[in-house]
Amino acid sequence: MQRETKQREAIRLVFERHEAPLLPAEVLRLARRRARSLSLATVYRTLNALAREKVLRLVALPGEAPRYELAGKRHHHHFVCRRCRKVFEVHACAGSIRRMVPKGFVMDGHEITLYGACWGCLTQNSRRKTTTANSKLAGAGWHFAK
Ligand SMILES: [Zn+2]
Ligand SMILES: [Zn+2]
Repeated sequence: MQRETKQREAIRLVFERHEAPLLPAEVLRLARRRARSLSLATVYRTLNALAREKVLRLVALPGEAPRYELAGKRHHHHFVCRRCRKVFEVHACAGSIRRMVPKGFVMDGHEITLYGACWGCLTQNSRRKTTTANSKLAGAGWHFAK
């Protein structure tokens, strides 16, 4: 029981420190720093439980394996890097979406996913440069998984 609480806490902390949606395998890698005996099966089970309790939200991007992020975040979208396959949060939205709604219809939500190459992949020649670029973007409302 004690061990289970510790593992669950380690998994929850991973999401508080990484704003981008994460794959179960990434959660395992990051949470193992705090809970060494953690297994992928436990990660899956805990992610499911946390999603049921609405602590986490399932992020199902088209053509991507399911990821998880903290529930209750403000409105945001995702950017999928086709090179490193990382997913980033985008804190911006298209302003003209309501104009796309057919006359007489009521829209109550939308999904937008951006695809391309992340700054880190485009400036891969030096690690220092990438870190600087990422921190600049973080200041502009972007959030990066490590
Ligand atoms: Zn990338
Ligand atoms: Zn939006």
